[in-house]
Amino acid sequence: MPFAESMKLIVGNWKLNPPTLNDAIALASWVSVSVSSESFDNMVLLPPFIFLEELAKKFKQIKFGAQDFFWEESGAFTGEVSLSMLKDVGVSWVLVGHSERRRIFGETDQIVNKKMRFALENDFNVIVAVGELQRDDHPEEIASGFKKNVSGADVSKLDKLIVAYEPVWAVGTGEADDPARSSQIIGKLKQSAFKLFGADSNRIRFLYGGSVNSQNARSFLNQPNVDGLLVGGASLNAEEFALIVESSN
Ligand code: PEP
Repeated sequence: MPFAESMKLIVGNWKLNPPTLNDAIALASWVSVSVSSESFDNMVLLPPFIFLEELAKKFKQIKFGAQDFFWEESGAFTGEVSLSMLKDVGVSWVLVGHSERRRIFGETDQIVNKKMRFALENDFNVIVAVGELQRDDHPEEIASGFKKNVSGADVSKLDKLIVAYEPVWAVGTGEADDPARSSQIIGKLKQSAFKLFGADSNRIRFLYGGSVNSQNARSFLNQPNVDGLLVGGASLNAEEFALIVESSN
């Protein structure tokens, strides 16, 4: 399914939810009947690994992605999932560098960068989450963290690179950023991307993430630099998520 360039991209990160496959099917099913058919191309759902195969089989109109992956294809890497395994079950999107993976599982900028490059080499669409820990971090520091995560990306694949700007203090806290501030920071990230990749950097999409809900979604989507949203908690409520998806149209 192609990505409609003019439309905003809305990604739902289910994190470690819901508890059972039946619940996951029910949630995907509610989403599929709640959003308009033209929204499917611009929406990606990120359920836990274990549900991906069944969901991708059942809901062919929905794009599914994984919340993480490991760069080796096979071998002694207990607990890991490879890109070829994901491809085998019909998945072509991955998220890397979510703040929960960095904070709880110790993922570094280097690891995230390696995963990002590997995902692009393998023709996956990769969403790289970046963002500052503290509310008062300087924009230059945020941009320098961003560069460490995306440098070395294959320039011919930049249309498959999506950067999610997620101020860590806004993730899961109910305290969304000020939309104008986020747009300004994303503007800085776009300038850094231009320095790294030149005019091709225009093909990278930039999302905002952090306590997005149906009330505030539109104020982020109306910002000039915001190409879409990464939604956590609110993506677990199909009606709420559908309102967010529809506010992008
Ligand atoms: C996320 O999980 O990336 C996220 C932004 O979560 P929330 O929307 O709940 O803040």
